Amino acid sequence: MSTAKCPSCASSDVGVLDSQRAVCGYCSKVNRRVFQFCCDCQREWPRDASSTSACMLPDCALRAALLSDTKISDPFSSARGCPFFRACPKCKALLTHNGKGCPNITCPHCHTYFCFRCLSPECYDDQYYDSDNEEYIEPEPCVIVDNTQTLEDLGL
Ligand SMILES: [Zn+2]
Ligand SMILES: [Zn+2]
Ligand SMILES: [Zn+2]
Ligand SMILES: [Zn+2]
Repeated sequence: MSTAKCPSCASSDVGVLDSQRAVCGYCSKVNRRVFQFCCDCQREWPRDASSTSACMLPDCALRAALLSDTKISDPFSSARGCPFFRACPKCKALLTHNGKGCPNITCPHCHTYFCFRCLSPECYDDQYYDSDNEEYIEPEPCVIVDNTQTLEDLGL
């Protein structure tokens, strides 16, 4: 399980109550009410939640995966340094890169083609031949983006 960190004040000095639920003493004091949150999806635990151990918030697992700071570390992967998890820009399916080949992947659910690094529709990282100057061009690798925009786009 992820190390608990308060989503409000970013303190890791929190009390873990259940497998997913934790309480922040600092925020509870500041807000003058008990501030509980889900360690996985990093949102406030609903005060009227019927369950105290399993998070009932929508898309908890999806959000938790996209927030995870696990990165692709394979030095030979064209997706090295990317977040391990991405959400398909079209159907929101949670996807991973197999580490092989080019950074582009195809969503197996909706067949959307996109770049795992920069999330644009398509990127080439192979060299190409510039016929005007008669030379091979090594394109600049695209910039790896994090999942912040995705989370916003998905309304998570
Ligand atoms: Zn806090
Ligand atoms: Zn949650
Ligand atoms: Zn898709
Ligand atoms: Zn790209």
